[in-house]
Amino acid sequence: MKDALLWKKEGGAVRCLLCAHSCLIPAGGVGYCACRVNERGVLKTLTYGKSTGFAMDPIEKKPFYHFHPGSAVLSFGTPGCTMRCLGCQNWHLSQSPRESRRAFDIPETMPAEIAAMAVRELADGIAYTYSEPTIFFEYARDTILETKKLDKKKFHVFVSNGFFSEQMWNLVTKEKLLDAIRIDLKSFSDAFYREYCGARLEPVLESIKRVRKSKIHLELITLLIPGKNDSAEEVRAISEWVAKLGKDVPLHFIRFFPQYKAGDLQATSEGALRGAKGIAEEAGLRYVYVGNLGGEDDTLCPRCGTKVIGRAGFSVVQNALRGGKCPSCKTKIAGVWA
Ligand code: SF4
Ligand code: SF4
Repeated sequence: MKDALLWKKEGGAVRCLLCAHSCLIPAGGVGYCACRVNERGVLKTLTYGKSTGFAMDPIEKKPFYHFHPGSAVLSFGTPGCTMRCLGCQNWHLSQSPRESRRAFDIPETMPAEIAAMAVRELADGIAYTYSEPTIFFEYARDTILETKKLDKKKFHVFVSNGFFSEQMWNLVTKEKLLDAIRIDLKSFSDAFYREYCGARLEPVLESIKRVRKSKIHLELITLLIPGKNDSAEEVRAISEWVAKLGKDVPLHFIRFFPQYKAGDLQATSEGALRGAKGIAEEAGLRYVYVGNLGGEDDTLCPRCGTKVIGRAGFSVVQNALRGGKCPSCKTKIAGVWA
């Protein structure tokens, strides 16, 4: 167990400042995530070194569509999450610490080893993903710092639920840890966040606004769950809020498949995904995507409609950008392309 970052003492208890739950943890107790423990007045993290495995993935799989298209990222994550979504597709990983402390009975892989692996595998960057990177922030941070010692050009991206604290984000920006972050905007209803995810909406919106103010590249996704968050009103509310944030923020609508404790729900229909895309475009968003529906995940120039990036599944099959601009009308396409 390693000493955690971002906490303070409050009497005999400790207050964890890593995520918006802001848990007050008594001596010997664990936080809501079951990943941080108060050991004799010191907050310790259980996730450090506990990657459950590694994979090389295309960046499009995260999904990032406006950030180094076609690049390959070394991906890893640990058990645990700050949320407990009823339909989590990685529930065996994200929820395992809540089931048993034995979730962390896995061999350690230290940050310097991951940095060396990224160099050996010729990864363009590292993705902190699969569960929620907030939960293994100390491990991710040290991995980033070790990798920068070997190769400063490798980029670092978080795939996050956005429920991290302002203090964590301040550290990320102060130490220039990240190049991009993809955040789930799961719903525009606080009741949904409370009932379905065990969290709250407002901290996620605040995180997204903070990221937008930074120079760190941002993309958003919404998993459309039939009967839960897919009404036209809710999709419009999400889209209008994102449009106010910035019409050039990419928004991905993703298909839900029933699983875990939401096994009784339906999978999202193609019609619902295309309908959501139409609503978001009406709201003024320039880059709206629906994954894995032929043609709906290409990037088109918002001015003249030229296809600037063509995708098939997670592969980039065409990249017509010239210096980040449309080859036909020279409009700048928002993103990080170099
Ligand atoms: S990371 Fe969040 S859920 Fe976990 S102990 Fe800290 S405040 Fe609580
Ligand atoms: S935030 Fe993501 S990883 Fe965590 S429980 Fe929800 S879907 Fe799973």
